[in-house]
Amino acid sequence: MRKLLVALLATALTLAGTSVPAQAAPAPGGAGLGDEYFPDYGNSGYDVSHYDIRLRYYPESDRLTGTTTILATATQDLSSFNLDFVLDVASIRVNNRPATFATQGDHELVVTPARAVLAGQSLTVVVQYSGVPSNKVAAGFTAWTRTPDGALAVGEPEIAWWWFPSNDHPSDKATFDVSVMVPDGVEVISNGVMPRDPVQEILGWKRWSWRSLHQQTTYLTYLAIGQYDVKTDIAPNGQPVYNAYSQLLTPDFRSAAEASVERTAEIVDWESGLFGPYAFEAQGGVVTPPDTLGYALETQTRPIYSSAFFRRGSNTSVIVHENAHQWFGDTVSVDQWKEIWLNEGFASYVEWLWSEEQGEGTAQEIFDYLYQTEPAGFWTVAPAEPGPPEIFGNAVYDRGAMTLHQLRLTIGDEDFFTLLRTWVAEHKYGNGDTAQFIALAEKVSGQQLDELFQAWLYTPAKPAVDGGVTSLARTAAPKSWAKIQQTHALLQER
Ligand SMILES: [Zn+2]
Repeated sequence: MRKLLVALLATALTLAGTSVPAQAAPAPGGAGLGDEYFPDYGNSGYDVSHYDIRLRYYPESDRLTGTTTILATATQDLSSFNLDFVLDVASIRVNNRPATFATQGDHELVVTPARAVLAGQSLTVVVQYSGVPSNKVAAGFTAWTRTPDGALAVGEPEIAWWWFPSNDHPSDKATFDVSVMVPDGVEVISNGVMPRDPVQEILGWKRWSWRSLHQQTTYLTYLAIGQYDVKTDIAPNGQPVYNAYSQLLTPDFRSAAEASVERTAEIVDWESGLFGPYAFEAQGGVVTPPDTLGYALETQTRPIYSSAFFRRGSNTSVIVHENAHQWFGDTVSVDQWKEIWLNEGFASYVEWLWSEEQGEGTAQEIFDYLYQTEPAGFWTVAPAEPGPPEIFGNAVYDRGAMTLHQLRLTIGDEDFFTLLRTWVAEHKYGNGDTAQFIALAEKVSGQQLDELFQAWLYTPAKPAVDGGVTSLARTAAPKSWAKIQQTHALLQER
């Protein structure tokens, strides 16, 4: 495409018989970012650096009103550009002038500034809006969850559309300020740190403010609004820990949840030893009201958990998984949704490492058990090309983890952990893809690894193992397996 355009421009110049550079007219930005699985997620033509999301929420009616200010830079000459959003927009200003806007499809908002924006120019976009998010359907569903005492803005990949206008794709990360005014007695939890205590702005209402200091994706930005008990602490690395438990949890769920989530700082410390320094400014976890959220999500700095994870008592496996994502998924994010094994395969493998650490079964025992017990259908999905319906399927999690175990056996522990630390350091606050990971694995190990990755990541068939199946231990399920399996069954419910 690019070559064709250059050829056409050259022809135009020749025909015009002049050396004055051709000035292409500003063009509309695209309604997607080239994601192979979700072509209309995100938008092209600009790059966001910061979101300032300032809202008011009425728990009784689920009504949300507010203003989001987006700071961005145009990456092409723009006559118009798109945002991803589904609530009702009252007004939009671009660079201090009123802009016109129109909805398109089920989640696109086309914004036409009063004046075209040139490539490299700053964009300040102010969107005023309101709506009842639980009434809005897009992509066939509603990602916003209403709870008995408030709401949850949590989802992957879709959630941002229901509460702030954005360039909704993990390849455009930004910093965030999120503040929500709610009735007195209601808590608001989000990412990062609280730059100030809740402030009474009008009688009976308080504004809660949260700030993410580091690059964050739109889908890892969240809200939990409701009645929460909050426990604060200081982590071994000196960072603030902020854990929140729904007041609607029954005592048995509450104690099992606390016995798990209160170990977050210990687990983050253990993971820091394996993968390098924790890249964010705060830690913690949020446990949601019963029967609301069905899964857990690695929301940046402070994962959120369904209470169902604690149904059978404490569960550190899920805490390990979601916090492993702080390195694999949050610090280094996917470039394309098809690369999701870089998040889920890695976080699952860290659960195996934790099992080994806790003396509940080694990573090798878990591998051997899975290799011998996964049903035939499991092997028909290639983890690095799962197809859109399988992005949260078993192959992405378990076969992704098995791939990492085979890689570890092939290159040895020293190179394996050097590779993981280097991967995070090189892509910190940015994105990465599988081709880059394979190239780095080959560089760190000095080995040619195409065959291994081809068999484990890209072939929809069961790979052979060195020494054959008879070399594998014929173990019963390792002690940790029931918990890991329960964790994964819930994680895949999203
Ligand atoms: Zn995960």
